[in-house]
Amino acid sequence: MQRIVLASRPDGEPKDENFRLESVDLPTPAEGEILIRNHYFSLDPYMRGRMDDAKSYAAPVPIDGMMEAGSVGEVIVSNHPSFQPGEFVFAMTGWATHGIAKGAETRKLDPTLAPITTALGVLGMPGFTGWYGLTELGKPKEGETLVVAAATGPVGSMVGQVAKMRGLNVVGIAGGADKCQMATEVYGFDACVDHRAYDSAKELRAALKEHCPNGVDIYFENVGGKVLDAVLPMMNPFGRIPLCGMIAWYNAGALGGDASMEALTGPRLWRTILVNFLSVNGFIISNHFDRYPDFLREVGPALATGQIKFVEDVAEGLENAPAAFRSMLKGGNKGKQIVKVI
Ligand code: NDP
Repeated sequence: MQRIVLASRPDGEPKDENFRLESVDLPTPAEGEILIRNHYFSLDPYMRGRMDDAKSYAAPVPIDGMMEAGSVGEVIVSNHPSFQPGEFVFAMTGWATHGIAKGAETRKLDPTLAPITTALGVLGMPGFTGWYGLTELGKPKEGETLVVAAATGPVGSMVGQVAKMRGLNVVGIAGGADKCQMATEVYGFDACVDHRAYDSAKELRAALKEHCPNGVDIYFENVGGKVLDAVLPMMNPFGRIPLCGMIAWYNAGALGGDASMEALTGPRLWRTILVNFLSVNGFIISNHFDRYPDFLREVGPALATGQIKFVEDVAEGLENAPAAFRSMLKGGNKGKQIVKVI
């Protein structure tokens, strides 16, 4: 089998030399485990954090350790009574052609209900993240205005589509005219603003204001950086900010440290939250999988009828995963970034 390991820790933006493709013997599953031949695996922004040796909610990938990822594939050997060879499953087997998983940590997939790739995006962890963050922490109400950046990715597109289903005015922020068109025409957002078209937070804010005449009630935070500076002063009293991610700062290391961190100083941030009575809720979705069945109950049928849309961006071949990952961190992906292994 082949796999990609972390060869060295990046300083800033990851480079090809931080990854290494290697061949190793096919492992043998122990009692209760299964051997899976991966068809696809997921590339997600959180993987950038795992490349740093910094304190976080999860341990870093060790040097020479395999890059972690959720994958979908076919059972080829099973030492677990609930799984048979030929069945399709989701498991955390990493950037690899094959993987071993404990049966108890593996989810069976039915390819006749939805393409197996959907377990990595729209029906998987990212889609669930968008749904949970919006419905539990965003507390959306009909007629309110929501702003979400990384609008065409699997998290942002779920946030916007569920918010539309609940009658909100939904304004996306995305990088480039093509992505903005995708947000409005594919995902049904009311408007979308191209953050790359504006150099400063002030200019971006002016563009957003045209689409948010009544201010912003929910800012679903995916990116931080200039977008956060633009949106924060637009928040209405009692607004909600589900704090999901801050990809603009991921390459700056765990606590940032580059110049962009200085843009939003502590006093201004705290005062804005205080005087507007804002609720800011950080969350990590792995703590909330007890709600996954509720998510599937709402989103599964909406996906089946075509009310919820999804777009996938497929990189071909394990060896191309590092380039696809580096590109995704900078917005090179159009939709959920996955890697096709076979
Ligand atoms: P996406 O597929 O949307 O990919 C990331 C996107 O971020 C890029 O395509 C790009 O979109 C955008 N981006 C990158 N840099 C910047 C920047 N400087 N300013 C503005 N936008 C930028 O990713 P996901 O949907 O998988 O994830 C979205 C966010 O959700 C991430 O922050 C991720 O870490 C977070 N997340 C958090 C979870 C949790 O449990 N809290 C779970 C899952 C995801 P564009 O070209 O449109 O700018």
